[in-house]
Amino acid sequence: MTLRPIILHPDPRLKKLCSPIGRVTPDIESLAADMLATMYEAPGVGLAAPQVGVIQRLFVMDCTKDPEAPPKPMVLINPEILWQSDEPNTYEEGCLSFPDLYAEVTRPAQVRAEWTDLGGKRQTGDFEGLWATCLQHELDHLNGVLFIDHIGPMKRQMFTRKMVKLKRERAREA
Ligand SMILES: [Zn+2]
Repeated sequence: MTLRPIILHPDPRLKKLCSPIGRVTPDIESLAADMLATMYEAPGVGLAAPQVGVIQRLFVMDCTKDPEAPPKPMVLINPEILWQSDEPNTYEEGCLSFPDLYAEVTRPAQVRAEWTDLGGKRQTGDFEGLWATCLQHELDHLNGVLFIDHIGPMKRQMFTRKMVKLKRERAREA
C-alpha cells in the first residue's frame, strides 16, 4: 500500500471526463487500497481517482462520523445515480484538492446509486446525510466537476486565486 500524492486545484487532470473501468484487475485493487490509505491519512471522507491522477471512474469514501465506530471503507467503480430526492440538503463541503477551503453546497438530500464493487459485482445502495453529499461530490469528480462549480462565481474565483497562491508557496518550499 502506497500513499499517493493528491493533486491540488487548479489542474487540468481535475477537469477530465473519466473513462469507465472494464474489469477489476490487480492494478485497480491496488489503486483502491492506495486511495483508501491516502484518504484516511489526509484525513478526508472521500477521494476520487482523478485526484491521484488516474482518469478512471472509481472513488472511495467513508463517512463514518463516530470515531469509536468501526471504519466503513467503500470502493465504488463505475458508479451511477439511479434516483435522487427532490428534497435538498445543504452541507459545508470541503475537498482534498482544496485544503482548508469550505463552501456550502446544496444537493439532493437522498440518492440511490449503483456501482461495481472490488469483487466485480454490481451493487445498489441508498444514501442520505453526509454519505449522500459525499457520493455526489465524488461522482462529480469523475465528470470533471468540482464543488466550486456549484457555488457563486465570486467565491469560485476567490477559491481559485487562493489555491494558485498556495501552490506557488508550496512549489517555492519544495
Ligand atoms: Zn473533492
